[in-house]
Amino acid sequence: MEFRDLKSQYEALKKDIDEGIQEVLTSGQFIGGPVVKKLEEDLARYVGRKHCISCGNGTDALFLVLKAWGIGKGDCVFVPDFTFFASAEVISAVGASPIFVDVDKDTFNISLDSLKLAFETVLQEGVLNPKAVISVDLFGLPADYKALEPFCQQRGLRLLEDSAQGFSGAIEDRRAGSFGDAATTSFFPAKPLGCYGDGGAIFTDDDDLANLVRSLAVHGKGKEKYDNVRIGYNSRLDAMQAAILKVKFNALVEYETTCIQQAARRYDDLLEGVVKTPTIPEGLVSAWAQYSILCQSQEDRDAIKAALKAEGIPSMVYYPKGMHQQTAFLANSRNPVSLENSIDLTERVLSLPISPYIEEEDQTKVVEIIRETLHG
Ligand SMILES: *Cc1c(COP(=O)(O)O)cnc(C)c1O
Repeated sequence: MEFRDLKSQYEALKKDIDEGIQEVLTSGQFIGGPVVKKLEEDLARYVGRKHCISCGNGTDALFLVLKAWGIGKGDCVFVPDFTFFASAEVISAVGASPIFVDVDKDTFNISLDSLKLAFETVLQEGVLNPKAVISVDLFGLPADYKALEPFCQQRGLRLLEDSAQGFSGAIEDRRAGSFGDAATTSFFPAKPLGCYGDGGAIFTDDDDLANLVRSLAVHGKGKEKYDNVRIGYNSRLDAMQAAILKVKFNALVEYETTCIQQAARRYDDLLEGVVKTPTIPEGLVSAWAQYSILCQSQEDRDAIKAALKAEGIPSMVYYPKGMHQQTAFLANSRNPVSLENSIDLTERVLSLPISPYIEEEDQTKVVEIIRETLHG
């Protein structure tokens, strides 16, 4: 069994993907160009944002936005403690200080209460300038934007939606990638919309931000490529990845989202009363980047993981450490608030195999092993 079944996906889409790659090879245009431009337009329309700017990967996407906002030394950015390292890494990479915030114990996303407390504490200390919040659509579930957007607006904080795991998720009629002042996603192969290498994108309605990010991503270009008006970076999506994404995006829209919702519901049903299944608040749609259960104890979690492994079934602990526990952050980590939910989750979460292509019998088998492990 695959953890994220990219092989079955390729089998299903092989003809179109191979053709798309072949067309790029024949065209001779490998970086940027019409295939990339068309993809950006399609993704912007789907997400419901004016601009989509593709770039090298999801980490660069976050970094470029922080850079474009001029965030740096002396500034701080709030980020959930329970996330993939990149969400917090980029804050340090631009020279600012990450402030780790606790997460909600049910949705696993950034807790507004904890954010409020962290913000007020930082203000009182008067050392760092609070500039932005990076919220994460963890495991595919959009964060609580109905609360986050007004909170950030009232306090003059910019809101950056890290939707690396969230593409195709939604809150009512608004899609993931359309929240806050800007949003980013990743096309890393195992993400809800993945390519066959690295790739990422930024979504925004802000014309100035879009122009600045485009410039920063291509060596600080001005009106033309060889007119460089600022120091920038090299972070672009190549045409082959865009051709692959085009096919995968069509599949995502046409049937993959439906299939993965069905798979998640199947796990929900099979696991009822066995372990705590994901909480999806009313009106929210998860992209199901992960299907993560919450076990009663670390011992249970580790026993289930071992039992699955013994049957050749992969499962993953996303994430075994909170940001404040990461070695890279130990020296200059700032955590003014309790991170107890985050710590608790690191000990008890377990992500199960899921993809639009998972077979019902595989899910039944996974759940049987979990049942047997817990009840003997
Ligand atoms: C994957 C991921 C990223 C980084 O994306 P890359 O394309 O791998 O650079 C950032 N944030 C979160 C939450 C992620 O899951």
